[in-house]
Amino acid sequence: MLRVTLPDSLLLSVQKPARYIGGEVNTIHKDLAQIDTHFCFCFPDVYDVGMCHLGLQVLYHELNRYEGVYCERCFAPWPDMEKAMRTQQIPLYSLETYTPLKEFDFVGFTLQYEMSYTNILNMLDMAGIPLYSKERGDEDPLVIAGGPNAYNPEPLADFIDLYYMGEGEVEYEHLFNAYSAHKKSGGSRREFLKIAAQIPGMYVPSFYDVIYEDKPAAGCDHMPRIAAIRPNCPEAPKKVTKVLVSSMDELSYPTKPIIPYLQIVHDRAVMEIFRGCIHGCRFCQAGMIYRPVRLRSREKIMQWADETLKATGYDEISLTSLSSNDYPGLYDLLREIHERYPHINVSLPSLRVDAFSLKLMEELAQGKKSGLTFAAEAGTQRLRDVINKGITEEEILTGVKLAFEGKWDRVKLYFMLGLPTETEEDIQGIANLAGKIVSEWHAIPKENRSRDLRVTVSTSFFVPKPFTPFQWCAQTDYESYMDKQHFLNSQIYNKKIQYNCHDAFLSTLEGLLARGDRRTGSLIYHAWKNGCKFDSWSDLFDEAAWRTAIEESGVELSYYCYRERKEDEVFPWDHIDVGVNKKFLYREYQNGLKGVVTPNCRENCAGCGIRKISDTGVCYEENHQ
Ligand code: SF4
Repeated sequence: MLRVTLPDSLLLSVQKPARYIGGEVNTIHKDLAQIDTHFCFCFPDVYDVGMCHLGLQVLYHELNRYEGVYCERCFAPWPDMEKAMRTQQIPLYSLETYTPLKEFDFVGFTLQYEMSYTNILNMLDMAGIPLYSKERGDEDPLVIAGGPNAYNPEPLADFIDLYYMGEGEVEYEHLFNAYSAHKKSGGSRREFLKIAAQIPGMYVPSFYDVIYEDKPAAGCDHMPRIAAIRPNCPEAPKKVTKVLVSSMDELSYPTKPIIPYLQIVHDRAVMEIFRGCIHGCRFCQAGMIYRPVRLRSREKIMQWADETLKATGYDEISLTSLSSNDYPGLYDLLREIHERYPHINVSLPSLRVDAFSLKLMEELAQGKKSGLTFAAEAGTQRLRDVINKGITEEEILTGVKLAFEGKWDRVKLYFMLGLPTETEEDIQGIANLAGKIVSEWHAIPKENRSRDLRVTVSTSFFVPKPFTPFQWCAQTDYESYMDKQHFLNSQIYNKKIQYNCHDAFLSTLEGLLARGDRRTGSLIYHAWKNGCKFDSWSDLFDEAAWRTAIEESGVELSYYCYRERKEDEVFPWDHIDVGVNKKFLYREYQNGLKGVVTPNCRENCAGCGIRKISDTGVCYEENHQ
């Protein structure tokens, strides 16, 4: 097997060479002569970002538990390293054994965000692997993809040989066993894909045909809607159903995570406390695709926290989930961690602010007041009801008042602009809410509050996503995005309030790729050809190159972004079953337009359909009371 050699002079010529050398504490080494399936986990972003990703650590340790399988890692080289590698004709390689990607059996990408798609093409190109699936031969690796964005597999369908729809811990062993047997029998790539297509959760795009209507969609120049997506070989199922973990406690956990040599974005131990979310925010894809809620027991969390802290020496632990407050017994868990590890800093994303949690946050952060975060998402109660975001202005104001009395001095507020039914009043409501927060601070006597206050208002643009009730919505156009942003900016006068906003064109592209179909692959290809990569990095994002790619590929923004879909729209992802059904999503869309709130799963079952594919979790009360 070929191994890449990296000259010192090359490493010394690039920023952060530790990104490219591997050999970190807790990496796994295996004898290549003893393995029969060699898998490279590829993160299509830079090392410092990818190494913070819990899914990478989980899958790396999980796949390496399998006998005969060796999973290595690879990240997108930063442009300085890419340039050096291309100049010296060094192919993209894995960090553990410096094996060129082209030599692997599988090259697997995780799809975490749409704006990483050009990096996938770039990594394949740097590896010398043909970009298009149809151009790969039996000697090339199988290119597989998974992760949240894989649930709309179509934009990358031409470049990916097979997708895995589901949670990483479940079906890979089955896939590798089938691969190993197939390799021994000397079968072709296509024959293997036929076997793979029959494994739960596996989707082989080339085994499906997309049929289009015979005239352009209303309001579009030339792009017709999809009429149907049909399997073209008997081995491919009509629908591919996501695969789920049933018991969180029976899984293994990466208690010996790899520890990077360089400072990464989040350098700490991470404990996943549960999966899924009981809330049904209508814009939120994670809240739908990760259903149902499945809890990890406190005993397991404590056991794994013990093991992880011993194996790493970290002084901070983060308890992750989509919504921390929904973990039953959260405070008991936090107290136990705090008592057992008084010197360990504990961080919790999305903790609801009340008197108890503030005290606890202070204790856990050992007196450091890191700032409070509220994801209010919309500026008025009316619009928060439309999106089903269960947070009220009163809760926010009560929370900040308590915080200010405890001398907290920083508040961050997150909102979206361009939500369905939004009016100027809703945007004005954002500025008003920020103003009321400042007034709460002023209302506290000087001696009882912090010396100064900083309120940060951040807005992103609403982007309709697949498998959400808002998947039928029209996205706001670029000019209107900008108008909304300018209007909000003009309404914020207070010097204590700082306003940050997101790039409008980037959001348009994100929306296009999120609801894209096979025809979108041409846009991704042209963008990459025009030099686009690391598109989620604002300093590297090349708007002009993307605009050129839109023209070259002929994709219409009016088709993908600005068109409200009819109820009967055939979505590019309709042949993927995530459990939550289309009828429920449409009902929720209509409820949203009427401002009707749907209670969370703990309060009532809204009949989302997840029961059909899951024998576990689901209705929280039934399973966990
Ligand atoms: S609380 Fe709402 S936004 Fe957060 S994960 Fe759940 S559904 Fe999504």
